[in-house]
Amino acid sequence: MESQNIRIAVQKSGRLSEESLKLFKACGIKFESGGSKLKTVSSNFPIEFLFLRDDDIPGYVEDGVADLGVIGENVLMEHIRQVDVVKELGFSKCRLSLAIPRNEEYSGIEYFQGKNIATSYPNLTNAFLTKQGIKVTTHEISGSVEIAPSIGLAEAICDIVSTGGTLLSNGLKEVATVFQSQAVLISNQQLSSEKQAILAKLLFRIDSVQRGQN
Ligand code: ATP
Ligand code: ZN
Repeated sequence: MESQNIRIAVQKSGRLSEESLKLFKACGIKFESGGSKLKTVSSNFPIEFLFLRDDDIPGYVEDGVADLGVIGENVLMEHIRQVDVVKELGFSKCRLSLAIPRNEEYSGIEYFQGKNIATSYPNLTNAFLTKQGIKVTTHEISGSVEIAPSIGLAEAICDIVSTGGTLLSNGLKEVATVFQSQAVLISNQQLSSEKQAILAKLLFRIDSVQRGQN
């Protein structure tokens, strides 16, 4: 039988890209990256890389267009997907947080009762608040969420935060954490035994890299 490559989807350019490529290079996998290439094959490991927008990665892995993918847990958890999380990768750490105008007094989670919240993560936001008996109206927007309160679109936001600098410069303050996120390696649920063997080899190398970092 002709030997197969395992196919992995990584973000083309963004906050997951650099660390993803660094990890696979640290695993001793040689490949070309950068430029406008959307696909590249390793010269020394049975793997090929697809460079995609991060939002498309879980769907491609679920459908088997890609066997593996690197994705932020925040994106993965927002939509239910039939994929396996095979490894926490420990980079692109961030949190999904609720934020309100800085000059507002925050009394606790009850503050949000009946409020309008702008977010790219309506499912995670609603699930978090509903669990605590808070009913809100979410307005889904795909980017620049932090300007929503100042333009009157919503009274609060639920957005990705790492340092809080963006919130601060938009006159907002973080008041509650909805979800802690990091990059994870995901896998299609029906890998052939040949691909499972390649994945096992890859995981072994990732483990050694991670051990070396601790
Ligand atoms: P794309 O063009 O691929 O759709 P994007 O703009 O949706 O990219 P990025 O901003 O590159 O996404 O973020 C990708 C992921 O990186 C996020 O989903 C999140 O998991 C993580 N992330 C986001 N912001 C930060 C941050 N400030 N620090 C660390 N990780 C972050
Ligand atoms: Zn995206």
